[in-house]
Amino acid sequence: MQRITILGATGSIGVSTLDVLARHPGQYQVYALSAHSRVAELAAQCRKYRPQRAVVGTPEAAAELARLVGDLGIDVAYGEAALCEIASSPDTDTVMAAIVGAAGLAPSLAAANAGKKILLANKEALVMSGQLFMDAVREHKATLLPIDSEHNAIFQSLPGDYARTPARSGVAKILLTASGGPFLNRAVETLEEVTPLEACKHPNWSMGRKISVDSATMMNKGLEVIEAHWLFGAPAELIEVVIHPQSVIHSMVSYVDGSVLAQLGNPDMRTPIAHALAYPERIESGVAQLDLTTMGALQFHKPDYERFPCLALAFDALRAGGTAPALLNAANEIAVEAFLNERIGFRDIDRVVRRVMDENPHGAAHDIAAVMAQDAHARSAASNIVANIARH
Ligand code: NDP
Ligand code: MG
Repeated sequence: MQRITILGATGSIGVSTLDVLARHPGQYQVYALSAHSRVAELAAQCRKYRPQRAVVGTPEAAAELARLVGDLGIDVAYGEAALCEIASSPDTDTVMAAIVGAAGLAPSLAAANAGKKILLANKEALVMSGQLFMDAVREHKATLLPIDSEHNAIFQSLPGDYARTPARSGVAKILLTASGGPFLNRAVETLEEVTPLEACKHPNWSMGRKISVDSATMMNKGLEVIEAHWLFGAPAELIEVVIHPQSVIHSMVSYVDGSVLAQLGNPDMRTPIAHALAYPERIESGVAQLDLTTMGALQFHKPDYERFPCLALAFDALRAGGTAPALLNAANEIAVEAFLNERIGFRDIDRVVRRVMDENPHGAAHDIAAVMAQDAHARSAASNIVANIARH
């Protein structure tokens, strides 16, 4: 019986994870669930999955949750320390890290420091603190399995001994596919007028609002380049972004002998979730088998960095190193939130991120305190820029 903590249980990844778990009663046991403010949703999950512990964002939310599930004997808590506790408790084996944004860093890291099996969806944690995170995984013998569909595909396409001998495995390129999001073919001049609703309408995937906007700007792919760099120890030059609008191939690895290995599937996150949960075995995920004969043409082309400046900004941050990716990530989180609240326009997102990166020096990422200080500084710089250009 694998005992599981789901951080961010009420989100898109959290719900998909619970859906896969429900298909395998007797194999997995939910130890703890967390949400931030959607208390009613978390209460319903608690009733169905009966965790021992549940964590929310505030004392008010905890009081409300305790009122709703008080009869179940669940230990209810709130705040970051409680998240770290459910991620590192000796009573859990596996942690699904599916909180969105920098808020996921501390609990994901706590799971690494406790040597857990970590299913990592929260890419922002790795973007912010890649070296420190990977060091913690190695030092404490944690197991890190990628949930992000591209990284899960790359993981499946790499040789089994890659982690032990990356230099000798004959990998020529990591080909990170990108759908290009909802604005791949929209006239560039009209991107200024895009609404949050349009930006959140992804052609192939159903996801939370922040990552949906990141997909529309392609910052998501930029964050994924940085994520791939850390997960697979790959320099920026080894990672190539390929636009593939159908999202059938979820990424590829090409080898020095000319072979290209890919992972294909219907665009449904339950596939990588089931893969990581059962690894190295396989379990059913509820996702329909791919029918290639009804698929039509699969297309591939190079990304347009003028249409998607966020992609170039992320490559810049990766090459700059140190706390530059944390700067990029924090500025992006503030800009995306301002866009979702209709305070700034869609194209202002890349302008805010660029200005924060140009106007604020980055430093060395010695420790988590340095990363968090950079994060806080970038948030305040980005908020000031937003306040100056905001519509309200
Ligand atoms: P959602 O917005 O759907 O869910 C986010 C979850 O995190 C919710 O449970 C939310 O709680 C919780 N949360 C939000 N803010 C905080 C906070 N400040 N502190 C603690 N918990 C918080 O996001 P997704 O599920 O789409 O994405 C989660 C992560 O997975 C992201 O890092 C994303 O990049 C990554 N990912 C997602 C994919 C997808 O298909 N959705 C694909 C690949 C990666 P509440 O519901 O109460 O607000
Ligand atoms: Mg992805």
